[in-house]
Amino acid sequence: MAKLELHHVEKQYDAKTIPVKDISIDVEDGEFLSLLGPSGCGKSTLLRLIAGLEQPTKGKVLIGNQNMNGVAPGERNIAMVFQSYALYPHMTVAENIGTALKLRKTPTEEIKGRVQEIANQLELTHLLQRKPGQLSGGQRQRVALGRALVRNPEVFLLDEPLSNLDALLREQVRAQLKQLFKLQQKPVVYVTHDQTEAMTLSSKVAVLYDGFVQQLDPPSRIYSHPANQFVASFVGSPQMNLLTLDLEGQDAILGHYKLPLPSLSNLPPKIVLGIRPEDIHLAHDQVAQTIEGQVYLVEELGKDNLISVRIDGSQITLRALLPSDHNWEGDRVSLTLMRSKMHWFDPDTGSRL
Ligand code: ADP
Repeated sequence: MAKLELHHVEKQYDAKTIPVKDISIDVEDGEFLSLLGPSGCGKSTLLRLIAGLEQPTKGKVLIGNQNMNGVAPGERNIAMVFQSYALYPHMTVAENIGTALKLRKTPTEEIKGRVQEIANQLELTHLLQRKPGQLSGGQRQRVALGRALVRNPEVFLLDEPLSNLDALLREQVRAQLKQLFKLQQKPVVYVTHDQTEAMTLSSKVAVLYDGFVQQLDPPSRIYSHPANQFVASFVGSPQMNLLTLDLEGQDAILGHYKLPLPSLSNLPPKIVLGIRPEDIHLAHDQVAQTIEGQVYLVEELGKDNLISVRIDGSQITLRALLPSDHNWEGDRVSLTLMRSKMHWFDPDTGSRL
């Protein structure tokens, strides 16, 4: 058992730079946690705190119930994989993978066996005698993973390991990663700014912004129930529509239309409506509430088109995903907003209402 725990961790570099402010997260054996957020939100700093490459200003990091504050990185039994691979160029693939075991004075035959086993898992067997310079980017990243796996650490830490790969390869290696870490049954912490990676790989995602965890939940929950406006806008592509609307009694006003609100206590003077483009459909009858408007921009995405519509009686634009088998350019459209997929936020605090 090697549960990883962060207890009220803070990291302050100077009076103005506090990239990590009071973060508490637990990661159990077999859990895959992604730290997701825009560049500069403190993801790498948090990972470095877990690795012991930085010391927290406040709070503590525990691995397997042991307080790691003051414990050197080499003593923590963690393995890190970086974006840059960090392989030794003069060593073969086999030597690169086995090097940590050699440093631990593991018997040569045992190293050989273990390297073979890992190379099998990562489909590197035929490349064991090559040097890193003779490998593709994807192969190098698999060697870097092999180096982490061979040590059988208590915790895996990965810092944007796929960002140097091209899109197609990234998708392939992503699937391999998921399979590989499923077998490990260890806590995995994975830093990324790529929401697709976070959503596809993780058992839970921590969305970070401004030094705080904005939401910590399984990917499906993050998508279906964003805790605040930041998470709503950061997760999902194409981005969620977020419209600041006036209120009249229990209705939000959208151009000529009134949208009934769910029963909420303490309504603010204005409200933010969030709705994803895929949750807006063409209205097929006049029974459901429809919103009409003029299409002024069409972006082709393949299966669907992303349509920007100016809502009648307003300057408000809604973006909807509609089928690509019709030319929407210049059309007038009647749209239905799926009520169950509407999200309401307080414009002052950004919190979900
Ligand atoms: P992310 O990984 O989310 O892009 P980082 O954790 O790398 O973000 O950085 C968060 C903030 O902390 C940035 O503003 C960065 O400039 C600052 N920072 C990171 N490392 C140091 C350091 N060693 N000294 C001072 N500031 C730092």
